[in-house]
Amino acid sequence: RITLLDEARIGLRALFDRVEDIAAPTLRLGVTGLSRSGKTVFTTALIHALIRGGRLPVFEAANSGRIAGAVLKPQPDDAVPRFPYEDHLAQIVEARLWPSSTTRISELRLEIRYAPPRGGERTLTLDLVDYPGEWLLDLPLLDMSYADFCRTSLTLAREGVRAPLAAPFLGALAAASPSGPEDETGARALAAAFTQYLAACRSERVAMSLLPPGRFLMPGDLEGSPALTFAPLDLPSDGKTRPGSLAAMMERRFEAYKSAVVRPFFREHFARLDRQIVLVDALSALNAGPAALADLERALDSILTAFRLGRNSIVSTLFRPRIERVLFAATKADHLHHTSHDRLEAILQKLVERALARAKAEGALFDVAALSAVRATREATMTRNGEVLPAIVGTPEAGQEVAGHTFDGDEEVGVFPGDLPAVPDALFAPGGAGFRGLSSTDGADTDFRFLRFRPPAGIGAGAPLPHIRLDRALQFLLGDRLA
Ligand code: GDP
Repeated sequence: RITLLDEARIGLRALFDRVEDIAAPTLRLGVTGLSRSGKTVFTTALIHALIRGGRLPVFEAANSGRIAGAVLKPQPDDAVPRFPYEDHLAQIVEARLWPSSTTRISELRLEIRYAPPRGGERTLTLDLVDYPGEWLLDLPLLDMSYADFCRTSLTLAREGVRAPLAAPFLGALAAASPSGPEDETGARALAAAFTQYLAACRSERVAMSLLPPGRFLMPGDLEGSPALTFAPLDLPSDGKTRPGSLAAMMERRFEAYKSAVVRPFFREHFARLDRQIVLVDALSALNAGPAALADLERALDSILTAFRLGRNSIVSTLFRPRIERVLFAATKADHLHHTSHDRLEAILQKLVERALARAKAEGALFDVAALSAVRATREATMTRNGEVLPAIVGTPEAGQEVAGHTFDGDEEVGVFPGDLPAVPDALFAPGGAGFRGLSSTDGADTDFRFLRFRPPAGIGAGAPLPHIRLDRALQFLLGDRLA
């Protein structure tokens, strides 16, 4: 639950932010997505596009030349790390390596000077807040009791592709005695087995999305603390825990996780966002198969629940609902030929629409896009068996091994991107048709599905970065505030 005290603090903060916004228009944009979904790359590319411009036809303010300039400013929250834009950019452009990923929250402030269409000059302050999507998927825990958490997470762990990965944990669980005396060693062993199960579910070939509690996978400086040393247990059907029992100890820690980790994040960061982009690695889910896609859909449901939290509270009736726009974006579209970009968007649209219908989400404006924040491939045509086919060309990262060949990081390859179905329904049918991503152009049945390409070559210092549809994201997220 969001407590009254939380609400009061959020309300005061909202009032303070509102006054600041009137004095100097300010927009707080959250960038999130699960680990490896592309947050760091996206945030770097977005800042670079605002500072350096580039080909951004759909981003009206930039395209019509109304943006006079954007500069970095000291970020306002002293306790939050700054997003290291300069280092990340140098890494991409100079070393042609992807920057290290987001593992914690960071912020950056930009000041955008622009000319409204009516003339004159204005300034919009843009605060970017980059944080792990795992934390967002924790917010629904606020509305759950320990018994609810046990029920939902154990049901999931015993299902489908998760069950074999959960076997060691479920074995440890079967040997544990929830009503027995509390036991630190036992609790630690169960928490470790549960964490290993969650980590196994994140592997590329399984690609599950919904894996709370988020800090089990991204503990940061909380590693080893009691608030992270719990696991779900099989509770009696009334969900009651006996004082002094292992179950009571786990319940206490689950509550500590909520109050020490989840609630402060909600109050200090999430509740202050005006807009949000949720990056989704839909291609990885498609590559991994129907089970991963179904799990992604469950995660989207959970995200939409998070956006509704605190909406019907006293405070939200006094203050405007904060998050007014949410963009779900499928990343790494440069792994597909442009003919499939609309199809990728249609698949995400379908996933989000179904989740929206279930969550009855309202109050915010939702949209979807398929994009590549930094385009690492170019398109070409190649011949296979006398047939001319669209292909993509890129430089695979060094050290990856496919069919006995190890890439050295300099060699370019052409691959056939998989064709996404024109009608997404086939992918969602039980036992779904599936999708076969990147495959070889040499006729051999080589599976390049999980191939990673290096960032593009030949980008001069200060030059714009190539992208796919980044301008669409910018227009949806910022366009109206620059008009
Ligand atoms: P984060 O964990 O969400 O911060 O994810 P990152 O931004 O670090 O991205 C994870 C990985 O995805 C990168 O190391 C790249 O391999 C890949 N990636 C991200 N964005 C793109 C993109 O636009 N194109 C391509 N080809 N790969 C990308």
